[in-house]
Amino acid sequence: MNTDKKIEFFEPNPRLLMGPGPSGAHPSVLAAMAMPLIGHLDPDFLRLMDECKNMIREVFQTNNRFTLATPGTGTSGMEAAVMNMLEPGDRAIIGTCGYFGNRIVEMAERTGAEVIQVDAEWGSAIEPEAIRAAAKKTQPIKLIAIVHAETSTGVQQPIEQISEIAKELDALLLIDCVTSLGGIPVQADKWEADILYSGTQKCLSAPPGASPITLSEKAVGALSSRKTLPNTWYLDLQKLEAYWDNRRAYHHTSPISMLYALHRALAITLNEGLENRWKRHERNGRALQNGLEALGLVLHAEKSVRLSVLTTVRIPEGIDGELIKSELLSNFSTEIAGGLGVLKGKIWRIGLMGESSTPNNVLFFLSAFGILLRKYGFKADVAASLESAAQTLKV
Ligand SMILES: *Cc1c(COP(=O)(O)O)cnc(C)c1O
Repeated sequence: MNTDKKIEFFEPNPRLLMGPGPSGAHPSVLAAMAMPLIGHLDPDFLRLMDECKNMIREVFQTNNRFTLATPGTGTSGMEAAVMNMLEPGDRAIIGTCGYFGNRIVEMAERTGAEVIQVDAEWGSAIEPEAIRAAAKKTQPIKLIAIVHAETSTGVQQPIEQISEIAKELDALLLIDCVTSLGGIPVQADKWEADILYSGTQKCLSAPPGASPITLSEKAVGALSSRKTLPNTWYLDLQKLEAYWDNRRAYHHTSPISMLYALHRALAITLNEGLENRWKRHERNGRALQNGLEALGLVLHAEKSVRLSVLTTVRIPEGIDGELIKSELLSNFSTEIAGGLGVLKGKIWRIGLMGESSTPNNVLFFLSAFGILLRKYGFKADVAASLESAAQTLKV
């Protein structure tokens, strides 16, 4: 090895992140991560954990005592939820209409529980009646799981009726809120939901690395009446709770800087106001969608359940979706994503989450996208698109 040669430090090109995550982190969140390290049992750090807990409750709209953030990205919250709630002998219904519902199924199957999958088309929401029908065949049902905002299809799942069914069956209701929290209304207590988890990198606009999670008393009861230990040590929720509550029992060294980021991101979210934040995401999302339609494109998700924070667009015939995506990156330093699973090669996915959800980004994106589509022969009407978006934005 040549010891004279220094290794160059890594520095990324600045990007506009308009994919399904990560979204653009707030500069103040990134700055918070550069604050000096303190110990994970430092009184100041314990105060930060308590404040995070309170803010997590507020963004989830819940009074749940059992509230914390698991170390790891959104998937760690999913894995904690599934592995801790299910064990052999349990039966769960899982609604799937996209990639992330399927991920919950894969995890649930690893617990040894019986998993009943209720499917819908990738682009539609789960029919509550389909869940009721599945439950009629086999009971008891311990848990119903659903994804609130299916990032792979751009669908927002209505929760109320599913919550009713969970109550009828006396089943726990688990909701994946990774993409919805901080972007569209999440109302844990109003929905009487039992387990909800999210992530930092979608509408909360922090880097990926923590997963806020909250459990109702009923879910806490289910934890303590397990017959077997959960199939995970690191994400054992009872062990995590013993660190997050006033026992402060060492379990892992908290990802200190990540929690600085989480605290800052939650504070920014709550300072903006949840209602204001929901309205901002709604308006910018609809402006983008109207602009895309005015370009002459077809949106993929069914209109009545179309999510505002993540938009799926069908790739028109004769257009190379990958090429447009890579030219957006090379010419405009802007990231979007393609489809997953059965939608691979069929759609683009465009996110407007957290910091990335601005009128500037909507108007810029429609121009850049329109220009590239025209370059490859699709007669996109850029002027009409900007006009339509501007009207929705009320500028
Ligand atoms: C992104 C996402 C996840 C996974 O989160 P990671 O941060 O990638 O681990 C889970 N569920 C949904 C709905 C998501 O959008």
